[in-house]
Amino acid sequence: MVIAVLAVQGAFIEHEKVLKEIGAEVFELRKKEDLDRPFDGLVLPGGESTVQQKLLKELGMFDILKKKIQDGLPVFATCAGLILLAEKLSNDDRKGFQTLPVTVKRNAYGRQLGSFHRDGIVRGIAQDETLFPMEFIQAPYIEEVRGDTEVLAKVDDHIVAVRNKNQLAMAFHPELSGDDRLHRAFLQIIQERNA
Ligand code: GLN
Repeated sequence: MVIAVLAVQGAFIEHEKVLKEIGAEVFELRKKEDLDRPFDGLVLPGGESTVQQKLLKELGMFDILKKKIQDGLPVFATCAGLILLAEKLSNDDRKGFQTLPVTVKRNAYGRQLGSFHRDGIVRGIAQDETLFPMEFIQAPYIEEVRGDTEVLAKVDDHIVAVRNKNQLAMAFHPELSGDDRLHRAFLQIIQERNA
């Protein structure tokens, strides 16, 4: 199974490490030509969504990736990646891929309070004594979900993880927590699609 990790900016190396540890083959997307290689899944890492979006457009990768996601390519998005996928941002006019029918608030906890740790339930993945360790860094949260978007996790009454068919997205950073269950769930989604 081959996973392409967007590597133009942000916390991509940490995702690569986890994915390799659980047996996936990984390569980095840095320029348009990298998209010629076949891959089964895409990771959109955390970082700065404004910068990532600008670079994706400048490098000529934006439209190609958007089309692939629309066509069903499994995508795993964390934090800035979630912002890129969101159909709507409540506090920003920018439009990213807009493939995920949710409304996201950027820097939702304010600059000062945006970084914290919580252990929380992730539906179907972590519950009871096996709560998921969630690292939030200048984090967004999801204000509204639409269509058949499934809420997977909430923290302090805010939605922080969702799935919509091929798209799995979260406001926190599972690649920094030493818990690989969400990455494994992503590989499972790919396996089901390829079966
Ligand atoms: N605040 C960042 C943004 O708006 C996201 C932060 C993150 O990815 N950790 O892009």
